Amino acid sequence: MTQLPSNFSEIGRALREHQKFAILSHVRPDGDALGSQLALALSLKQLGKDVRIWNEDGMLEKYSFLPQAELLSKPPSTPEDFDVAVALDTAIQSRLGTPFAAIRSTKTWINIDHHPSNPRYGDLVYVDPTAPATGQILFELLKAGEFPIDRSIAENLFVAISTDTGSFQYSNTTARTFEIASELVGCGVDVGRVSQQLYENYPRRRVELLRELLRTMRFEGNGKVASFSLSLKTAKELGVLPEDNEGLIDHLRAIQGVIVAVFFEELADGKVRVSMRSKDTAVDVCAICQKFNGGGHTLAAGARVRGTLAEVEQRVLEAICDVVDCHS
Ligand code: 5GP
Ligand code: MN
Repeated sequence: MTQLPSNFSEIGRALREHQKFAILSHVRPDGDALGSQLALALSLKQLGKDVRIWNEDGMLEKYSFLPQAELLSKPPSTPEDFDVAVALDTAIQSRLGTPFAAIRSTKTWINIDHHPSNPRYGDLVYVDPTAPATGQILFELLKAGEFPIDRSIAENLFVAISTDTGSFQYSNTTARTFEIASELVGCGVDVGRVSQQLYENYPRRRVELLRELLRTMRFEGNGKVASFSLSLKTAKELGVLPEDNEGLIDHLRAIQGVIVAVFFEELADGKVRVSMRSKDTAVDVCAICQKFNGGGHTLAAGARVRGTLAEVEQRVLEAICDVVDCHS
C-alpha cells in the first residue's frame, strides 16, 4: 500500500465543505490535464457542487470523446467568485493562462500536480513528482476521500494516466499504476474504445505533418540528439491545429542511439515552442529547459523561447550538447 500524504485529508475536507469550484489546468492541455479536470469536476458535481471547468484552449477536438467533454469550456470574459479554485497538472501558475483572470476571488487555491519544478503555489498543495500523471494522484485522492468514481470519471482518469505514461510504457509507470488501471477497468472503462480514440483516430493532416517534420530531421553528436522543426508557413499550408503535433516527438525518441529528442515549433508571437524528451535519467531535460525559463519533468520538458526558428534551434542544441557530450 502506498503511503498517502497527510494533506490528502485536508484537501478532501476542502472539497467536501465548499460549494462553488473552478477546476483549471494548463494551456495547450494534454490528456492528463483534460482528463483530470473532467474527472475531479464530475466527482464534485455528483456531490451537488457548482463546478466550472475552464481551459484557455477549451476542449480539444482530439479529446472530445471524453465522457462529459462538453462541460469543459473556455473561461468567460466576466470573472466569477469561487470558494475553491483547483489547478491541476500545472507546473507554474502562469501556465493556467486566461482562466486565471476569470477567477475574481477564491477562498482557497488548491494545487495538485506531478511536475518536480512546481514551486508549490497555492493554499493546499499536493505535488508528487513520483506520480506518472496527475490523474493517478487524483485517483488516490478520490479513493481516500470516498468521493464518487463512476464509469465516466474512471474513463477520464484512465485517459489521463494512459496519455502521460505513453500508454503505460514510460519508466514512471509503477505497479501502483497498473493496480489503479485495473480498478478503473473494474469501474467500467472500455479499454478498446478509449485506446482506439486515443491512438487510432488521428486526422490525416497529422500524418502529413509528420511527413514534413521528417524532412527537417537532423542529428547532432553522433546521433545522440535528434530534432525536427515546424515553421508557421508549413503549419499554415497543412492547416494543422496545435494539438496535431502532440506525440510526434516520440518518432525521434524511438530511434536507436538517440538520447535527447527535440521538437521546435515556430509560434505566432515571435517565440519558438521547444519540446524535449530524454531517454537517460542522467540527462535531465527539465534542467536544460529551465535555462530557457521552461520546466517539466526529468525525461519530458519544454520551454517557449524568443527568437527565430534558426536562432532558437542553435541556442537550444548547443545547450543540449553542453550536457550530452556531442563530441564522442
Ligand atoms: P510537451 O513537450 O509535451 O509540451 O511538454 C512536456 C512537459 O514539459 C510537460 O510536462 C509540460 O508541463 C512541460 N512544459 C512544456 N512546455 C513548458 C513551458 O513552456 N514551461 C514549463 N514550465 N513547462 C513546460
Ligand atoms: Mn501531467
